[in-house]
Amino acid sequence: MRENIERTDIDEELEPAISRVVGGEPEQRLAAYFEYKRRMNNQSSKTIEGKPFEKFEREKTEEELSLVKNIIEKMEDFVRSYGKEPVKVKPKHIHFLEEESFRKEYPDGAAFYFAPQQTVGVVDSGSHFINALRISHELLHFNSFQSVEIDKNSKANFRRSGLGTKVTGEQEEFFTQINEAMIEELTIRFERQYFDSIPQVKPEADFKRKYVEALLERYPETRENTLDLSYFRRRKNEQGKNILQFNVYTYEESRHNLRGLINDVFVKNADRFKSTEEVFNLFADAVLNGRLLPLARLLEETYGKGYFRELGDMTKKHSNK
Ligand SMILES: [Zn+2]
Repeated sequence: MRENIERTDIDEELEPAISRVVGGEPEQRLAAYFEYKRRMNNQSSKTIEGKPFEKFEREKTEEELSLVKNIIEKMEDFVRSYGKEPVKVKPKHIHFLEEESFRKEYPDGAAFYFAPQQTVGVVDSGSHFINALRISHELLHFNSFQSVEIDKNSKANFRRSGLGTKVTGEQEEFFTQINEAMIEELTIRFERQYFDSIPQVKPEADFKRKYVEALLERYPETRENTLDLSYFRRRKNEQGKNILQFNVYTYEESRHNLRGLINDVFVKNADRFKSTEEVFNLFADAVLNGRLLPLARLLEETYGKGYFRELGDMTKKHSNK
C-alpha cells in the first residue's frame, strides 16, 4: 500500500550551505542561490576531479547509516553552542568511498567537503571511530560560513569557506592553514563532548580513553603530545608482528602555530579574557558565523595595523613564510 511507504529524506527540500551571495545583479544572485540549492538537494552525479563518485562509492551498512545519523544530530547541537544555526544535512550528503578502489587513483586524502558540489566524501577506514572523526571534520566545513561572489563575467565563484578567503587577483586562498587548524580543533572538541554518546564509536572511544589515561600516568611529561593522539590502529609491521600504530590529529603543524598564537593573544590581553578558550571562541565565531571584525580588531590591537591581512597571507596553503 502506498500509505505504508516510508517518507525518505529525498522528499525534503533543503537549503544550501551558502550564507551569502554577493556581487552582480539581484537576479544573478538569486540564480546562483538556486543553483547551489539544486546541488545541495541532488546528491547523485557528484564527481572528484571529473571522475564520478560511483567509481568508488558503496552503500552504507545499517550500522554506518545509524552512525552518520547520530553524528549529524550531535553536530547540530555542537554548532548551535557556537551560535550557529546548523546546516540541514542528510545521510545522503555523506558518500562512503571504498578505500581500495579510491587508493588506486589517489594515494592521499581521507575525506573532503566539496563546497561547490555541496557534498562530503569519506574514504572508508574500516573503523567507525576513524570514519566518525573524518565525517565530523567535513561536517564542520559544511557548517562553516560560506559565501559566493558573482564576478565580472557573471560567474559565481566561492569567496569564503570558514576563515578561508579568496582575494581578487590572488591565486591562493588566504587563511587556509588557520581555517583547517580551527576545523580540526573543533573536531577534537566535538569528539570529547559527543563520541561517548554515539553507540557505534563507543567501544573504540573507551579503548582510546583507557590507553591515553595509561600513557598520561606513565609519561606525564609528554602530556601535550599524548592529548594530540587521534586514534590507535592495530597493524602488522614488516616482520608480520602485530603493532599498535599511533596517529595524531590532522594539520599538526598548523594547529601548533594556531595554539601558539591564541596563547600569545591571551597573555597580551589577560585583562580581557578569562581563558585561552575565550580567544579560541572568537576564531570559531569567524569560522562558523563569518564574523571577522571582532577577531581582526583584537589581532590588530595586539600586533599592529595590517596584521590581520598579513596573517592571512602567511597562512595560505603553500605559504612557507
Ligand atoms: Zn579540512
